[in-house]
Amino acid sequence: MIKELERHPVVSTFKDFGTIKNWVDGKLIDAETSEFQDVNCPYNGEVLGQVPLSSTTDVDKAVQAAKNAYPGWKKIGIKSRAQFMFNLKKIIEDDLENFSTLAALENGKTIPEAKGEILRGLEVVEFASALPNKITGPKLETSAGVESSFTREPLGVVASITPFNFPAMIPLWTLPTILTTGSTMVLKPSEQTPLSALKLAEYIEQSGIPKGVFNIVNGGKEVVQSICEHSDIKAISFVGSTAVAKIVYQTAAQYTKRVLTLGGAKNHLVVLPDADLETSPANVIASAMGCAGQRCMAASTMLSVGDTDKLIDRMVENAKSIKLGTGMGAIINKQNLDRIVSYIEMAEKDGCKILVDGRGQTVEGMEGGYWLGPTIIDGVDPDAPYAKDEIFGPVLCIIRSNTMQEAVDIENASNYGNAASIFTNNGAAAKFWTDNASAGMIGINIGVPVPRDPFPFGGWNDSKFGANDLTGDSGVEFFTQNKKVTTRWVGTQQGFLE
Ligand code: NAD
Repeated sequence: MIKELERHPVVSTFKDFGTIKNWVDGKLIDAETSEFQDVNCPYNGEVLGQVPLSSTTDVDKAVQAAKNAYPGWKKIGIKSRAQFMFNLKKIIEDDLENFSTLAALENGKTIPEAKGEILRGLEVVEFASALPNKITGPKLETSAGVESSFTREPLGVVASITPFNFPAMIPLWTLPTILTTGSTMVLKPSEQTPLSALKLAEYIEQSGIPKGVFNIVNGGKEVVQSICEHSDIKAISFVGSTAVAKIVYQTAAQYTKRVLTLGGAKNHLVVLPDADLETSPANVIASAMGCAGQRCMAASTMLSVGDTDKLIDRMVENAKSIKLGTGMGAIINKQNLDRIVSYIEMAEKDGCKILVDGRGQTVEGMEGGYWLGPTIIDGVDPDAPYAKDEIFGPVLCIIRSNTMQEAVDIENASNYGNAASIFTNNGAAAKFWTDNASAGMIGINIGVPVPRDPFPFGGWNDSKFGANDLTGDSGVEFFTQNKKVTTRWVGTQQGFLE
């Protein structure tokens, strides 16, 4: 390895992880498959290890372990289960440097970005550790001598299927709530980023959570299909692209499972001329370019209402100052990189103005990586493919419009509906956007409007299928079932009331 690589904070930790295993019943075990796929480090394209494309038998083993662990885990009660969450939080915090470097290594993001995702995941652990005080059920005398109450009960074995772009945080969106409320689980991480999930398994073991409560099956779509079909899995949560979210939603429902699937996004962000000149441009660029644009909350389309040229000039300056390799990470794989570049080429051919062009950039010593610098495209037609499709890269398309109504119409025409932000000092404009944007998460002078617990995370339209949101109070609802008890004590048999 050459010198530059050795100095890089992420790539200097590069090692060969060899054949990656599954985590079942508290042990690393080989998958029963002959099919493997390389896991590549996006920073340099080199192979980190081979992930198994596990079989139905592997899914079965993990589900069986979770099923066996369920009665004991349920029985110890929520107060005891919450104690494990305190342990888990401390263990992960103590190893934050290692964990974030590993997540960055397999995903291509920077260490600060990886730390950020882990800390956000830990907020869900913290939320779950408070659940014993939060989910006390109500009780009411509904008629004379008759009492009704309800409690939130675990579901049994639950599966969670996760994408590549937040390999630590998205498993941490679901596992704290699933485990604390008393279910056991099987996690199917992205085959592109399996290492962070296995690290989580180590932390879970260290926290003292009993064997079999948490299991991991690595693999691709065959594993997902087996999970959807498995008769012992009661509920499935999924986070990933809209195309797959639809497949999982439909297949799981066909097998009569409770299912919630979060899909892709194309988030619109309005900028008005009165937006704060000092802070807004940097915030808009951070939203579009953070994690190299590979975020379902990234603002990928800016709707400029009126003359915002001064703000755009600052955005251009800001984007140009981002240093690839340390200030911004890489794209997950070559195929995605080529797809993103093809959208920029299309926009160029259509006569759009490329204000900042990230194509052809690379990082010295890491030329094998999948690099693309920040890109800003101006004068975009709202009907162009790059204005409508999820690009999932560091590309900000600017659409010029004259009125807030035009901006809302463009946002409402999108199939997606994850996030929608506005940058302005005008309260009426902010309210108009909040009231009319067809999206589940709204930001006012916030470029990445992620709701924090207990507020739930989830979009609208093609960005989510299912009734609940995934985290916060709504996640608790999704991952539990209500038991309703109606009680009357008469006491006549024993005659002690007479
Ligand atoms: P993806 O849909 O390709 O993969 C997600 C999961 O589905 C992975 O575990 C993968 O193995 C599995 N999978 C892939 N193809 C499948 C198929 N045909 N059948 C069954 N399972 C399949 O998504 P990705 O590329 O890993 O992640 C990026 C996408 O996830 C983007 O669209 C992004 O917007 C979305 N995302 C959404 C949210 C959200 O909260 N809405 C959060 C993060 C990412």
